Amino acid sequence: MKLKEIKVAHKDSKYSILIGENILRLLPKKIKVLCPKAKKIGLILDKKVPKKFRSKLKKLLAKYEIFIIEYSSSEKLKSFQNAYNAVEKFLSKNFNRSDVIISVGGGVIGDFGSFVSSILKRGVNFINIPTTLLAQVDSSIGGKTGVNSKYGKNLIGSFYQPKLVISDVSFLKSLPKREVVCGYAEILKHSLILKTNLFAWLNLNSNKILKERNSDFLKIAIYKSCKIKLHFVKKDTKEKNQRMILNFGHTFAHAIEAKNKFSKKINHGEAVLMGMMLATKLSLLKKITSEKNVNNLMHIYKKNNLNYKLDKFFKKKDLNRIIDFMLNDKKNNDEKINLILLKNIGKTTNPGQYKLNLREMKKIFPRII
Ligand code: NAD
Repeated sequence: MKLKEIKVAHKDSKYSILIGENILRLLPKKIKVLCPKAKKIGLILDKKVPKKFRSKLKKLLAKYEIFIIEYSSSEKLKSFQNAYNAVEKFLSKNFNRSDVIISVGGGVIGDFGSFVSSILKRGVNFINIPTTLLAQVDSSIGGKTGVNSKYGKNLIGSFYQPKLVISDVSFLKSLPKREVVCGYAEILKHSLILKTNLFAWLNLNSNKILKERNSDFLKIAIYKSCKIKLHFVKKDTKEKNQRMILNFGHTFAHAIEAKNKFSKKINHGEAVLMGMMLATKLSLLKKITSEKNVNNLMHIYKKNNLNYKLDKFFKKKDLNRIIDFMLNDKKNNDEKINLILLKNIGKTTNPGQYKLNLREMKKIFPRII
């Protein structure tokens, strides 16, 4: 597969997602067309992105005044204070709306850089160059920007669309294995929530992504995944209803992560894998899905050595605490836990259709772990 382009059109913005290998070279031409008045470029870089890419970017953008801010990625970076400091830095360099900020990193750097871009002079041009699989299949698409609050993750933010996304699979070669699993979990989620051929394709080709990191297969997976995410984002840009389907498995996952104090013992993708299995087993118990669907999903986990067993990580007494954390989820608008359940491979329940109260969930939970 050569270079793929997805053209995204929202009500008030248009942008392209370019997917390919060694495609950074396209950046100068694109900036010239999309941001013709730009003079300055702010590069917000993840320190773990191999140095060769940093040198390459500097060379490619040599005709602009470049200001680089480098960060170690962590949820702590996503703070209002750090965003404020970055904004002040760009203001001190006289950045204008016609200039450009480019994030080069995973979802953390992308969320942070896009948030900074959205508030700097009420919005400067933003280009996202995602360098993790999760960022390429998920966080770089959809325009959600954000930083964290002491009250929870991503609670301060805006909806702000980029001018361009460049997903170059050559970044993925240096990615740690667990981070590849993280991105894979979201690809698998996409295959479950919309009827396409992605689930069948993953059944055959998951090892090409997880083990071999084959560029051609990665490009296909990213392309198919982006299309599915965009299907939901387009219907509901501001996340009022249909977009919540993208949270399939995530209500469980966020609670697992919170119970685990967001420690590295279980990362986000691993929590999502556990969460999707819990949601699917709950769907069977509620007679919404068939045993065949549960087995099909289990098969893909087993074949690829993906962990989904909660009791490997938690003692029995901790499980009720996970349910308490589920009650705090952003999507709940009353005292009940709002769940997206699986009807079929490629079809879920609608947001708001399935809610359980604390007592019901505590009763059911031991039967689905
Ligand atoms: P991350 O950005 O922390 O990256 C994971 C790790 O990989 C980090 O250690 C990072 O330094 C490293 N890394 C990045 N690129 C690399 C490369 N090419 N080679 C080697 N190492 C590299 O985590 P993530 O999983 O990419 O993103 C998670 C974040 O995304 C969370 O903050 C989450 O809230 C956010 N998110 C946002 C959205 C959205 O719609 N905006 C959606 C999903 C997730």
